Amino acid sequence: MNAAANLLEFDREGLAAFCEQLGEKRFRATQLFRWIHQKGAADFAQMTDLAKSLRDKLAGRATVAAMPLLSEQASGDGTIKWLFDAGAGNAIETVFIPEDDRGTLCISSQAGCAVGCRFCSTGHQGFSRNLTTGEIVGQLWFAEHQLRQRLNPPGDPDRRVITNVVMMGMGEPLQNYAALLPALRMMLDDHGYGLSRRRVTVSTSGVVPMIERLRDDLPVALAVSLHAPDDALRDDLVPLNRKYPLAELLASCKHYLDKAPRDFITFEYCMLDGVNDSDAQARELLALVARSGVACKFNLIPFNPFPESGLTRSPNERVTAFLRVLQDGGVVATVRKTRGDDIAAACGQLAGEVQDRTNAKARMTRAPVKLPRGGSEVARARAAGRADPQETRR
Ligand code: SAH
Ligand code: SF4
Repeated sequence: MNAAANLLEFDREGLAAFCEQLGEKRFRATQLFRWIHQKGAADFAQMTDLAKSLRDKLAGRATVAAMPLLSEQASGDGTIKWLFDAGAGNAIETVFIPEDDRGTLCISSQAGCAVGCRFCSTGHQGFSRNLTTGEIVGQLWFAEHQLRQRLNPPGDPDRRVITNVVMMGMGEPLQNYAALLPALRMMLDDHGYGLSRRRVTVSTSGVVPMIERLRDDLPVALAVSLHAPDDALRDDLVPLNRKYPLAELLASCKHYLDKAPRDFITFEYCMLDGVNDSDAQARELLALVARSGVACKFNLIPFNPFPESGLTRSPNERVTAFLRVLQDGGVVATVRKTRGDDIAAACGQLAGEVQDRTNAKARMTRAPVKLPRGGSEVARARAAGRADPQETRR
């Protein structure tokens, strides 16, 4: 018999095809999809209103399982970071960021990243592999249903906790488009998570042809990681710029806006001391966006340093001055609050702790542990007394 299919891999269409293969009616898929994504069920016996014949078939041939959980860390500010085992020594991270009026989940799309931005610890790791659709949406499935159990009052167990999703974890989502698209569909599906297109954001370093594809297929909110006002600097910071330079990138942003659910593109801009943070560069940015005609909002991200980057965070006064130049120039701009700093859950720090050998070594020195088989970093994380995946998996 073939290995059991993980039903998290299927959007509703895919699940209907799977039901058909089992000799069941396609419409059963909607019921099944709701059990999995709306109720968080993983045990087919629990799905009492499904035909018994279907439940019996599923029991032998299907599973519902997110990636094995390696650890969970909670920050003093309520941010929660989960580390999942992506196999072969790779770990990926998912971060929940609660705010007064919303709960945002930051999801990873790849183990590592091939773009190799200078200021990003994921980029410094290099590329390991694409996550599958089930691994992408499984982060949401896992987090939503874990959090409901923990945070919802007994009288309201099904209240939605995650109201927004941002594809801003590890990886470049638009370099994993085939897996991303069904995952986005499942997030938006009314029988799934029912999120509106405005509340799901894809963040990209600027894969121009895939921005065009997303515009045609499923235009959700778009964030573009800009980081520099000119091609020479952007070529250096975001190497993908050599392939898709600023003029092309901004033209695709403009084109995206005619279908986008919001009437602006978010430009992310990581503030690097003495590199891209001068008043003159802020003025160049103003000129650049004015030329391009792209309606936008700037989100300035204080750089989260890590040793190999050789870069440092712009001082607060510099960030404020830069912000003021943009605002005085008539552009909406904000500074991103750094969340989860104490658990290395902030932008660009993801999985650094596991993959970064310097830090791993420091941790080992603090709390010596016996390493099983001297193996992967994931094995080391396990040895460091982190959660047994089987205990936390649902
Ligand atoms: N690959 C996509 C999405 C993941 S990165 C992209 O680049 O847009 C999400 C955001 O975190 C990006 O804007 C990225 O530039 C930013 N980022 C990466 N490393 C960072 C760091 N060390 N400090 C602050 N922001 C960082
Ligand atoms: Fe990849 Fe985004 Fe990091 Fe650049 S910033 S290396 S695109 S994850």
